[in-house]
Amino acid sequence: MFKNFKSVDKCTFGRGTFNQLDSILAEKRGENDKFMVFVVDNYFKGKELANKVPAHAEDMVFFVDVDPHEPTTDQIDELRDTILAQKGIPAGIIGIGGGSILDIAKALALMVKNEGSSQLYQGLNLVKKEGVYHVGVPTISGTGAEVSMTAVLTGPVKKLGLKCDWTVFNQIVLDPELIASVPRNQWFYTGMDTYIHCIESMTGYLKNTFSEAYGYKSLDLCREVYLHDSCGQTAINDEKLMVASYFGGLSLTYSEVGVCHALSYGMSYVFGTRHCFANCIIFDHLEDYYPEGVREFKEMVRKNDIFIPQNVSKDWTDAEVDKMADVALALHHMWNHALGTDWKNKITKEQVKDLYWRM
Ligand code: NAD
Ligand code: ZN
Repeated sequence: MFKNFKSVDKCTFGRGTFNQLDSILAEKRGENDKFMVFVVDNYFKGKELANKVPAHAEDMVFFVDVDPHEPTTDQIDELRDTILAQKGIPAGIIGIGGGSILDIAKALALMVKNEGSSQLYQGLNLVKKEGVYHVGVPTISGTGAEVSMTAVLTGPVKKLGLKCDWTVFNQIVLDPELIASVPRNQWFYTGMDTYIHCIESMTGYLKNTFSEAYGYKSLDLCREVYLHDSCGQTAINDEKLMVASYFGGLSLTYSEVGVCHALSYGMSYVFGTRHCFANCIIFDHLEDYYPEGVREFKEMVRKNDIFIPQNVSKDWTDAEVDKMADVALALHHMWNHALGTDWKNKITKEQVKDLYWRM
């Protein structure tokens, strides 16, 4: 059975495209209870971008602090209940921020139309009704959340996305000016998510010409941003990184992620480590699986003088590592891609634990 994916309906790219947001939203404003909800990363509160958010008098604007934790099911349920209680069903939801905010916007757009807790819908195609119109405006690049069909949420029992065709954004606005202010380490960690998406999607059993075409281009762009002489946080590299993130997202969509992401979900679940940061800590030790990719990753770390924590496992207990391994091994689709359908014969729980202990 071949995957059959829905794409983002509309995409605008270029410096200053954020200024078009108001006109983009205009034709949708008459829908449902005729108001828009803007979910904006709290980082922008009091900054110039906040003044440029095209909110009308009837709209709601939420500034959300994404630093305490990655998006949770409780957080989505609470926001959804507030919106419904105060104003009803919005015409649209607009997320302005990094992967966390984009996932919040995607999940909210579904949850204003679906009853009960978002926990009920963590998984593939569990959402019952189409959500409302939703727009993603990334302010960090790398996760591919702008293009993916999942809204990753941490719930009481699992970290798993609300994944279905309706999750995909109706519109994305890719304005490279918005990512200029990302702090250097974060710029690296989140950008490396794209790099790792491509290495994993192109090294495994589900790789195909489609995923490779996006992956090769995305990797080239990552090298220009993080490795070549002209690397670094420059205006042109911000444009390249934004496109790399989009292409990397498509590369994995048409294939699958692998060992690093499986282990990363385990680490995030047990310790709350942020996705892109966890990926960097883990990928640094995966030379057995991705020798070329890990070698180049280490070069990028050196070139950009980035801090990747070492010896983190010295503070872990066996019970914690056990739990991480359970969470990682439950992600069958990733192992299936990385090691083949007989992956259970190729890796044991002890080996997964050993990978964690190396960190
Ligand atoms: P993030 O949204 O978690 O934000 C990281 C930090 O950067 C925060 O402190 C934020 O305030 C700050 N920030 C955001 N934009 C900024 C800017 N322009 N200038 C300065 N600071 C800025 O970062 P992320 O790495 O993009 O996203 C990680 C999240 O994405 C995780 O929750 C992860 O689960 C999710 N994710 C989703 C998918 C998907 O397909 N849906 C894929 C990968 C990761
Ligand atoms: Zn990722």
